[in-house]
Formats: sequence, structure tokens, C-alpha cells
Amino acid sequence: MGFFEDAAVKAKDVFDVAVEKTTDVISEQKIKYNIAKINSKIAKDYEMLGRLYHDSKKSGEDNEDAANALIAGIESKQAEVSDLEDQLAAAKNMIICDNCGAKNAFDASFCQKCGKQF
Ligand SMILES: [Zn+2]
Repeated sequence: MGFFEDAAVKAKDVFDVAVEKTTDVISEQKIKYNIAKINSKIAKDYEMLGRLYHDSKKSGEDNEDAANALIAGIESKQAEVSDLEDQLAAAKNMIICDNCGAKNAFDASFCQKCGKQF
């Protein structure tokens, strides 16, 4: 497997790392970290795509499949970033209970976990 095919396969993978899915509301910091991490992967994919294009032009080699795989990988990562940005917006509106630490909707009157009144 050549460098670009290998890279394309990696780009296509659903980035398993660090993006944790928990039932709890993920903290704002964690969401920001995940967004930054995915954005950095997107930047690398773009760089690889540029190199791939350059090499194709130079060698006349057809790297269309590898390029398409990279593009698909970029698109799926962008969709994930968009989801995380929605979560971030939601997380910013959370009330953190000072009694038990649970996160509650910004308009909650009582903590959903311990019942403390806000
Ligand atoms: Zn509470």
C-alpha cells in the first residue's frame, strides 16, 4: 500500500480517538478540545490533498480514488465539528448544580439530579 492510499484510508476512518460519547453532557472544555483536534486533522487532510494533487500533476499518475477518499474524510470530520459546535452552544447554557455538580438546562428551576432549587 502506497503512502497516499494509506493516508487516504486513515483519513476515511471515523476518527475514533478522543471523541468520547458519554451519556452525560460533555464538558465545554472537552468539546473545545475535540473540535481543535478534529480541525487539526482536517488541516492535515487538506495538506495531503494538496501534495497528492501536486504529485499527480508532476507524475501524470491518477490518484483520483485517494483524493476522493481524502475529501470524504474531510467532509465527515467537518460534519462532526458542526455537531460538536452545537453541543458547545448547549453546554454554555448549562447550569452546574453547586450541590451535586450535575449539569442542568439553562432554564431549569431545580437540579434534575439532587432536586436543589436554583
Ligand atoms: Zn444537584
